[in-house]
Amino acid sequence: MPGAIRFHEPGGPEVLRWEHVEVGEPGPGEVRVRHTAAGLNFIDTYHRSGLYPLPLPSGLGSEAAGRIEAVGVGVTVFAPGDRVCYVHRPPDSYTEARNLPASSVLHVPDAIDDETAAAMLLKGLTAWYLLRRSYPVQRGDSVLLYAAAGGVGQIAAQWANHLGARVIGVVSSDAKAEQARAAGCSEVLMADEPVAERVRALTDGEGVAAVYDSVGRDTFFASLDALRRHGTMVSFGNASGPVEPFALLELARRGSLYVTRPVLFDFIDTRAGLEAAAGELFDVVGSGIVRVGVNQRYALRDAARAHADLEARRTTGSSVLLPDA
Ligand code: NDP
Repeated sequence: MPGAIRFHEPGGPEVLRWEHVEVGEPGPGEVRVRHTAAGLNFIDTYHRSGLYPLPLPSGLGSEAAGRIEAVGVGVTVFAPGDRVCYVHRPPDSYTEARNLPASSVLHVPDAIDDETAAAMLLKGLTAWYLLRRSYPVQRGDSVLLYAAAGGVGQIAAQWANHLGARVIGVVSSDAKAEQARAAGCSEVLMADEPVAERVRALTDGEGVAAVYDSVGRDTFFASLDALRRHGTMVSFGNASGPVEPFALLELARRGSLYVTRPVLFDFIDTRAGLEAAAGELFDVVGSGIVRVGVNQRYALRDAARAHADLEARRTTGSSVLLPDA
């Protein structure tokens, strides 16, 4: 029976257990994927902690790459042996193998290896919707990007730079600042600096066109303060905890601001939408415009250590979990 990470109650990394699970034949419209690598994402920690509750016991993990092992009735696009990747919910990619609907699965282009594919789909599609949909960056825009040396951050910084934006990154250490600069941030601020003040100084007092804020509670008002008139606050994560309720007048006071709180799955809710978004992502990664740095590798059964590192801000770029060879 395939090995899999399971948890039976919400909590810290210690609730993650290595178990063996029954994975039967794929049902109609499904495929069975034998994973070669699973991507680690901050959202996995929200599922584990109960911030985003799941029916328990549950698996974990929303993206992976691998080989098709079997296909169910009605599946014509995939065949055993095909190299694929996916982003899918409910989470269950921290496993050696699983069944899932073929409609969530994509062929991996030849130019992209398995670890990169496993690491990039959820984070890269997030960068795509942030920059192309939530606030579509225009050439010449200044934008502010938190966790700029992280998984989403490094992809978004490179992509925004390619789209012609000036990216001001925020990070928590000098080593991360170096990585954020290498990813295309023209200026990098430290998380403990007065970020809004520094942003105003860097933009002749005007503020930025958009803030892409994944930190949440701790940075929300500093992010609003960093925006130009009619600027857009894209609050897309809760690394420091969820944003508290606030008065709409705060937006009026700061210059008729826009706020959005997006979620990836709303931007890839049709097969055509998923294919179009993934096509753009595969193009920028396949052509080398965006480099997905897989900076940490863990054994799949060691997922608890990976979670501890991610939550303690010890990781940079992307991380993958690897089943035993
Ligand atoms: P990262 O690799 O970016 O890791 C999280 C980073 O957040 C840390 O390295 C750290 O960078 C920063 N951070 C700031 N404050 C804290 C804190 N209090 N505790 C821990 N980390 C903190 O993770 P991902 O790339 O997987 O995800 C980035 C963010 O994007 C997450 O918040 C995630 O929830 C969000 N996300 C949202 C999606 C959506 O559709 N809404 C989809 C995908 C991701 P530093 O030390 O430099 O500050």
